[in-house]
Amino acid sequence: MPTTATDTLRQKSHDKSAPQSLTDGFHLIIDALRLNGINTIYGVPGIPITDFGRLAQAEGMRVISFRHEQHAGNAAAIAGYLTQKPGICLTVSAPGFLNGLTALANATTNCFPMILISGSSDREVVDLQQGDYEEMDQLAIAKPHCKAAFRVLHAQDIGIGVARAIRAACSGRPGGVYLDLPAKLFAEVMDAQAGRESLVKVVDPAPRQFPAPEAIVRALDVLKVAKRPLIILGKGAAYARADEDIRALVEKSGIPYLPMSMAKGLLPDDHPQSAGAARSLALKESDVVMMIGARLNWLLSHGKGKTWGTEPKKFIQIDIEPREMDSNVEIAAPVVGDIASCVSALLDGMDGGWPAPPPEWTGAIREKVEANIARMAPKLRNNNVPMDFHAALGALRTIIKERPDAILVNEGANTLDFARSIINMYQPRKRLDVGTWGVMGIGMGFAVAAAIETGKPVLAVEGDSAFGFSGMEIETICRYNLPVCVVVFNNNGIYRGTDVNPSGGTDVATTVFVKDSRYDKMMEAFGGVGVHATTPDELTRAVNEAMDSGKPTLVNAVIDEKAGTESGRIGDLNPQSAVSKK
Ligand code: ADP
Ligand code: MG
Repeated sequence: MPTTATDTLRQKSHDKSAPQSLTDGFHLIIDALRLNGINTIYGVPGIPITDFGRLAQAEGMRVISFRHEQHAGNAAAIAGYLTQKPGICLTVSAPGFLNGLTALANATTNCFPMILISGSSDREVVDLQQGDYEEMDQLAIAKPHCKAAFRVLHAQDIGIGVARAIRAACSGRPGGVYLDLPAKLFAEVMDAQAGRESLVKVVDPAPRQFPAPEAIVRALDVLKVAKRPLIILGKGAAYARADEDIRALVEKSGIPYLPMSMAKGLLPDDHPQSAGAARSLALKESDVVMMIGARLNWLLSHGKGKTWGTEPKKFIQIDIEPREMDSNVEIAAPVVGDIASCVSALLDGMDGGWPAPPPEWTGAIREKVEANIARMAPKLRNNNVPMDFHAALGALRTIIKERPDAILVNEGANTLDFARSIINMYQPRKRLDVGTWGVMGIGMGFAVAAAIETGKPVLAVEGDSAFGFSGMEIETICRYNLPVCVVVFNNNGIYRGTDVNPSGGTDVATTVFVKDSRYDKMMEAFGGVGVHATTPDELTRAVNEAMDSGKPTLVNAVIDEKAGTESGRIGDLNPQSAVSKK
């Protein structure tokens, strides 16, 4: 049996009694990816990569075709996050490449390893600007939006090109890499033996990076004397897969912790040290904050201002990227290294015994957590019709509690903000959302890849506006028969459905959609299950059925159109007009 694409080709050329065993660019790319354990490609076929997709599928790779490149790119990005191997997105030249570029930039911003492989026009024509089909200098355009960008011009360099792309995507701070493959490379022929020898298996693509011993001592010295210490876990910590050591560090220290959105579930959200329901208090009153794989960006108010209160703070930051330190405020104790090595070194340093944090502090946090949970409980059980966000999310919260290994994809404004605080997570890397940019449109791409990469059921909780960005991909979900249940929180518009056109004209307001749309019918059009749900009971029943059956399902969950607020919880980021008064 042939073992590589090149072998198959060689056999074919033998069959035709060819004088010499040959391979070509197509087969070398496939062999280079597979040699490095990459067996799945997310993409959209077209010139010049249609045959590449066909051949990859023929060679046994999983090739998942989307309806739009941005969603294929988002799928590749989240596949990278879930597997620590770069997710591959394959696009056609110019417009397809640009569609994929948004996802590549988003992956880079979020520190997800992915490789965007794009076919391109031939250099000779592009550089003379002679107007080729889909002519574009893609490499130059990709560069500012990714961690690294490479172009391969000759078949004998494919092995090195793929190796460089993998290493750039995975090592250090992970990110997006662009790999430019001009059309004529694919068909370039070379000797099969030489081709095989040119391939590179990347040894240790993400080498461990040990923190300096003095950095560990400094961090522990700062932490030890804290009166009101806090640990913040970010998605870098979830990505690092140091789950047990991180839990041990939190528990041994006795320090309250806050998970960032995608770090929820690294420790179960109902853990007694979780300060999740006392976030404001924890940020405001803490005196020493240890960040593990989280950045002091806008999501943490840049480490200063009202959110952080008047209490002087000292920050300890654990991150693989040295330049992250002092990006917003002074970092008193930088610990640079990979999270697994850093956390294990910190644990070793705590071996001699560790003082419990002052009980006034842990008690105050606990009290606040319990009060907030108790205040929230009745809201989550209300039976108002139409449903408000709390009623609908209360139902979904129970479902995730009962099915902790399901993957939750979440985007929207109110739908995102409420779900993040209401739905508890119990296992690491189960919550996938809009990430660092707060970008809309990740929904269906993430859902497809989550199902493909993990084989677990996926629950995608989507605002009606957010769903619109990638909604056509429900055809993809049906085509591959994936266990994805999409719940569209339908409140007739963006933020809410009640806005009116301020001019009194006939056009509806800019934030309003067709009233009472039936998104469930879209799913039925592709052979999936569509359900229209108006009560928490109907919603619960529909989602449980979908999770049990594994059938592609879309639940149109009718939400009170008056229930949402402007931009969810980040309305303060909207600039206000100084001259037009409401
Ligand atoms: P969140 O949004 O959850 O706060 P961010 O994406 O802002 O998380 O931060 C993740 C951080 O984790 C980045 O600064 C990144 O450099 C870091 N990181 C990612 N993987 C690792 C790793 N294996 N070891 C150390 N740091 C990592
Ligand atoms: Mg809406």
